[in-house]
Amino acid sequence: MAEENPFESLQEQIDDAASYLPSDVGDDVLTRLKHPERVLETNLTVDMDDGSLETFKAFRSQFNGDRGPYKGGIRYHPGVTRDEVKALSGWMVYKCAVVDIPFGGGKGGIIIDPDEYSADEIERITRSFAKELRPLIGEDRDVPAPDVNTGQREMNWIKNTYETLENKTEPGVITGKDLENGGSEGRVDATGRSTVIAAREAFDYLGEDISEATVAVQGYGNAGWITAKLVDELGATVVAVSDSSGGIYDESGFDPVAVKDFKRETGSVSGYEDAESLTNDELLTLDVDLLVPAALENAIDEELAHDVKADVISEAANGPLTPDADDVLAERDVTVIPDILANAGGVTVSYFEWVQNRQRFYWTEERVNEELEEIIVDAFDDLVEAKETLGLPSFRVAAYVVAIQRVVDAYTGNGNWP
Ligand code: GLU
Repeated sequence: MAEENPFESLQEQIDDAASYLPSDVGDDVLTRLKHPERVLETNLTVDMDDGSLETFKAFRSQFNGDRGPYKGGIRYHPGVTRDEVKALSGWMVYKCAVVDIPFGGGKGGIIIDPDEYSADEIERITRSFAKELRPLIGEDRDVPAPDVNTGQREMNWIKNTYETLENKTEPGVITGKDLENGGSEGRVDATGRSTVIAAREAFDYLGEDISEATVAVQGYGNAGWITAKLVDELGATVVAVSDSSGGIYDESGFDPVAVKDFKRETGSVSGYEDAESLTNDELLTLDVDLLVPAALENAIDEELAHDVKADVISEAANGPLTPDADDVLAERDVTVIPDILANAGGVTVSYFEWVQNRQRFYWTEERVNEELEEIIVDAFDDLVEAKETLGLPSFRVAAYVVAIQRVVDAYTGNGNWP
């Protein structure tokens, strides 16, 4: 994996797109667009099961709130850094703007390998973080959500800690909760669903049919495995999948649900039936029609990008291509659906969850999926229009041009005060 600083990647993406904006935003405003408004860095001191104390470093970055409350997930991972959290919070700003939902961007993380801790310890760590977050969050202030290695369980704990300390009911303080605690139908599938909708639209745009595509998916967490399931339902053939322990290949295609069951039982996809094994880098350079990086940042660097053979890449992960890899793929005419559109289904259904929480009125799964479909298709069309009318080199640049313009318009309309 490349040693790229994701915060520098974000800043490069913004600079790159800003040079194509129809009207000059000015260096002063550009500086604002490239830096977080504030970052919380805290140290959580938590009781361990054996009676000892352990301290965990945690962050919450609130990047930009011009379009609404800060919005974005919380990840638990040993590789979390302050710069990674800052980058991820910036990507959330532009993601929410691309799909035109009324949020700014934020992100949080704890430096931890959650596999090393018991469920009770994770609960205490999570509640300790929630206590630190309490003054910063709220349904109109900052609304966290799940990200890598967090899910409904952690969201429920954060909601409960916040509501207990605040002495009120406020389910919209966080999204990604389970259904019994104010979650939304369709939220769990939403990231994979938008990855597939965006890929389907891209194939359509290229005059091809996704149902005939061969697909490789790198990463088999929530986003990866749901993408595999939904693309398989469209008739495509999932020939390769992987997780951090390695990948599996079968040219006749996998049943994604059976692979998921296998991973649930054994802890990884490796060793599944008689499948051929391959490394993550081999998977990323397979000769497939659609490649879905669904793991962490910087999966594809410049060197690997020269060997990518897929026609379309739909980024389920945040930041899976380094900026240099992106340039190589653009030159090589590979169609890349950028993360800020491809995986925006997660935050879009989080938005639906927040709306439902505020109204205390809950939608059917059918309604959630219909509204999601409309938002992602409209956003894709906006990118096509921007790309064609402004002659932009890639969908990523188009996404940033559309998104930056929306943030700048909100900022300018709000005025700079005090
Ligand atoms: N963590 C997800 C993302 O990166 C979801 C964020 C949210 O729902 O607020 O988009």
